[in-house]
Amino acid sequence: MGMGTENGKNHELRAIFVPFLSTSHIIPLVDMARLFAMHGVDVTILTTSHNATMFQKSIDLDSLRGRPIRTHTLKFPASMVGLPEGVESFNVDTPKDMIPKVYMGLAILQPEMENLFHQLNADFIVTDLFYPWSADAAAKLGIPRIMFHGASYLARSALHSVQQYQPHFNVESDSEKFVLPGLPNQLEMTRLQLPDWVRTPNGYTDLMKTIMESEERSYGSVFNSFYELERDYYEHYKKVMGTKSWGLGPVSLWANQDSSDKAARGKTELESEEEEEGWLKWLNTKPENSVLYVSFGSMNKFPESQLVEIAHALEGSGHSFIWVVRKNEEEEGGGFNFLQEFEKRVRESGKGYLIWGWAPQLLILENVAIGGLVTHCGWNTVVESVNAGLPMVTWPLFAEHFFNEKLVVDVLKIGVPVGAKEWRNWNEFGSEVVSREAIGKGIACLMGGGEEDKEMRRRAKKLSVEAKKAIELGGSSHNNILHLIRELHSLKLSKSHR
Ligand code: UDP
Repeated sequence: MGMGTENGKNHELRAIFVPFLSTSHIIPLVDMARLFAMHGVDVTILTTSHNATMFQKSIDLDSLRGRPIRTHTLKFPASMVGLPEGVESFNVDTPKDMIPKVYMGLAILQPEMENLFHQLNADFIVTDLFYPWSADAAAKLGIPRIMFHGASYLARSALHSVQQYQPHFNVESDSEKFVLPGLPNQLEMTRLQLPDWVRTPNGYTDLMKTIMESEERSYGSVFNSFYELERDYYEHYKKVMGTKSWGLGPVSLWANQDSSDKAARGKTELESEEEEEGWLKWLNTKPENSVLYVSFGSMNKFPESQLVEIAHALEGSGHSFIWVVRKNEEEEGGGFNFLQEFEKRVRESGKGYLIWGWAPQLLILENVAIGGLVTHCGWNTVVESVNAGLPMVTWPLFAEHFFNEKLVVDVLKIGVPVGAKEWRNWNEFGSEVVSREAIGKGIACLMGGGEEDKEMRRRAKKLSVEAKKAIELGGSSHNNILHLIRELHSLKLSKSHR
């Protein structure tokens, strides 16, 4: 039996992919699903109808290319849990009081998903870490469950270290530094930079425990990372967890090879063509490496007090910038008037371009005019910037961002920190406001053209070359996907011969 690649000879291997209901978990897992289809595996993605709109265009494009991939949509039980139609994800616009209801809706869907694993005859399932039950569902069917981590190997290793050694209890204060024990590098953090559920156990702590246990019962895990990006942590993680794992990244680069893919990625509503051309036209007037891309991912909103600091820092930096901003409805005005005036001013001076809502990030990052990012260290964005060979100003906010910052700044040395001190929940503002001076300092260091900057750029470019090699034939991620598919194939065969 030949190993199918583009022309798909593995049709007989059927997979179901189940992304979680939030943008930055859906995007990479859908890219991964598309990679499996690209290698001939028959792929069905399970999600709810509203969430499917985020990626259906890419799946349609793949189908047209003859790849065996489709979406199976489930109807989200909105009315059963008392939610308005269309509210079925965990996103920046999900009102806080509705979050438990989205979880409830998801729980109601669980038996239906389990049935589909059976009905659709899945040979294996790849499910988000937030579906720990799927490890047991797979076990019942006698098929492998592969867990998708939305994070980095370093972040998972760091979390493991903190949970195992509890170094944050050995310091006197919330701001005293401690070393994360047992890791390949000396990485230092403070208690305030750890997620709240690590510091003080709550419901989320229990959920994470269940997730970790489900990982032990899974066949293995897959990451949007690649060996050369975090090799020590890749090995470390597998060792401490005692599980199999495959880095398959950068999935964005691999799955989205032409501009229609890149433009379609993650966008729910169609922006007008005019709007799209706007940023591109503007960017094309700028010299190489001269523009900053400023974005804080798909889940973040800042209070007006913070928006004002960012605006001043950008304007004062003297560098051109694209800033992806979001109106904040929770605060009176939410900085809207301020931002509108700011937008008018920087458009007139030609210094800045604001994108409201969703930006075509992959297309922007690959434009030669972009010279660096200001980022919250969301893992997808880190991988995408590495892929584009860009250094970063790091400004971690929530989730595992503070761990990712360690990789970017201390291990890879391709980032300058703004000096963020405090972890917050993704849907909270937190109490920290980073000053315009701190942001400005980071930007100056990144874009200043000094020795340090040049070195960072050189390292980022080198990683970008390695990212591209990783997905080519013979590259680490390429080998990983081929090995994994081969393994899953033999598992299936051994089962049918039993
Ligand atoms: N993204 C995008 N346009 C936006 C915001 C985000 O294309 O305006 C994409 C980005 O390319 C990345 C993902 O959404 O793939 C965000 O994931 P990340 O892990 O960086 O951050 P999170 O959204 O989880 O905070």
